[in-house]
Amino acid sequence: MPESLYDTLGVKKGASADEIKKAYRKLARQHHPDANQGDKAAEERFKQVQTAYDVLSDPEKRKAYDRFGSTNGRGAPGPGGPNVDFGDFDWSGDLGDIFGGIFGGRGGRRGRPQAVRGADVETEVRLSFEDSLRGAEAKVPVELTVACSECGGTGAQPGTAPVICPECNGRGITSESQGLFALSQPCPRCRGNGTVIEQPCAKCKGSGRERRRRTYTVKIKPGVKDGTRIRLKGKGEVGQNGGPSGDLIVVTRVEASATYERRGDDLIVQVPVSFPTAALGGKVEVPTPGGAVSLKIPAGSEDGKLLRIKGRGAPKLSGKGHGDVLARVRIQVPKRVNKKERELLEELQKAVG
Ligand SMILES: [Zn+2]
Ligand SMILES: [Zn+2]
Repeated sequence: MPESLYDTLGVKKGASADEIKKAYRKLARQHHPDANQGDKAAEERFKQVQTAYDVLSDPEKRKAYDRFGSTNGRGAPGPGGPNVDFGDFDWSGDLGDIFGGIFGGRGGRRGRPQAVRGADVETEVRLSFEDSLRGAEAKVPVELTVACSECGGTGAQPGTAPVICPECNGRGITSESQGLFALSQPCPRCRGNGTVIEQPCAKCKGSGRERRRRTYTVKIKPGVKDGTRIRLKGKGEVGQNGGPSGDLIVVTRVEASATYERRGDDLIVQVPVSFPTAALGGKVEVPTPGGAVSLKIPAGSEDGKLLRIKGRGAPKLSGKGHGDVLARVRIQVPKRVNKKERELLEELQKAVG
């Protein structure tokens, strides 16, 4: 059974304001995203704790919750009262929708600022060629706008919470009657939020946001190429008005290899072959990422010929199999020859003309 807001904070229904504050501080610290990077469950918990505190720390909202909210967190219509749905609660401190019905009789979402998804952030990570083949864990530092660590993004001084805007009673809009028409516009006091912050958080000055340098540990799969884009969902900039966070996109920059040239999942390697071996055939050692292999050079191989060594190339990003190694024959012409070699070559020269 889903828990009540009291359960979320781990306090009794009759808990004092002080007990609620203490419980909130402890849980908020424990589940804060900064202390639990990448932990979805902690993030979810943090939001629930924030939501519970937003309601229970405000005497009026708490009264409303006690009256209309049921223990499972979803509202049951009170006797003759409005239908309050806590299941639809938006944790961002956006209380107008729920409490507007109680305190302001507001309908619809007019005047409410739109939830805006946070921006995607792109950053690069440098990898050695070897790491690009075997996979790696990279620490990626990135500077981001995130929810303020002091107030958890509410913009209100810790221990306080945004309150229902007295100008519009939480409706987020003000209407002015002009004869037959009523002109509605976003409430200037709360800018359509329905709530105002009376004691702004000292750290973020009420914005609920701060610039922060974060370091994410990114798992790099074996086989990434130069320019591979890795998307980390929800690790970008924080959203606005309850919108979701953007993504972090990590672009891999892979150093060139002294040995291999990458072509798709294949690796090209230059293989020196002596003139007699190229002419008569033989075996040469070819380096591959998994260790050197012996390659048969067919008789009559010309300079530049590509010989395929199956399954010895880069791992495929899909995790299924490898590309190939392509050995390019490079015929070595001797720069200096001894007496014996000279005689043999002269004989050959005479033979072929
Ligand atoms: Zn703050
Ligand atoms: Zn207002």
